[in-house]
Amino acid sequence: MRLRNITGSREVIAQSPYVVKEAVLEKCPGTWHALFGNSNPIYIEIGMGKGRFIHTMAKEHPDINFVGIEKYSSVLLRAIQKMEEEELPNLKFIRMDAEDIAKVFGPGEVDRIYLNFSDPWPKDRHAKRRLPSREFLGRYDVILKREGRLEFKTDNRDLFDFAVEELEPAGWKAQAITYDLHRDEALMQGNVMTEYEERFSAMGNAICKYIIYR
Ligand code: SAM
Repeated sequence: MRLRNITGSREVIAQSPYVVKEAVLEKCPGTWHALFGNSNPIYIEIGMGKGRFIHTMAKEHPDINFVGIEKYSSVLLRAIQKMEEEELPNLKFIRMDAEDIAKVFGPGEVDRIYLNFSDPWPKDRHAKRRLPSREFLGRYDVILKREGRLEFKTDNRDLFDFAVEELEPAGWKAQAITYDLHRDEALMQGNVMTEYEERFSAMGNAICKYIIYR
């Protein structure tokens, strides 16, 4: 996934009709329904990587608007290429660090948040950078609708244990938790595999998942 220096990726992103331009992002809070031209729910994936999950989700759920967020241009480029092969009107991308997520979506504007195989940042001093950390949960609390849900999947047991421990201090509760998603019939219903999920489950790793709310 470390494809950070593909020549021209920034230029492709700057010209792509699928990417919301950095220059207009600060005007986006509260305008996402207008941007999609409908009042359908808004689901976002933070750290979407090459975008397989969100592209499949958008295809399967045309009545939901999806926004994929990715920090690195060269990774986002792969998601753009997928859209060029199969364009979907209900999917847009943002290239940004999710630290600033509450500057891009208005309070309660998002109906669901997906975190899939987030970077583990194993050193303690980097805990605040982990996408399921209490610091990020505080940002999600602002943009997620009161009755909204956040779903997180990973094969990294240390990261998952950390994420579960962060819930109470951050004021969130678990609606569902599994430590072996692929053997959980209920939670597997409608499961869309991510690139990392396919790779790590093929290696025999169990996939952990939670669905949380406040
Ligand atoms: N979600 C994909 C999957 O499951 O196949 C990709 C997982 S990959 C391990 C994590 C992705 O999250 C990388 O593409 C990384 O660049 C992105 N990422 C990590 N921290 C981020 C942040 N703060 N803001 C936006 N994207 C981030």
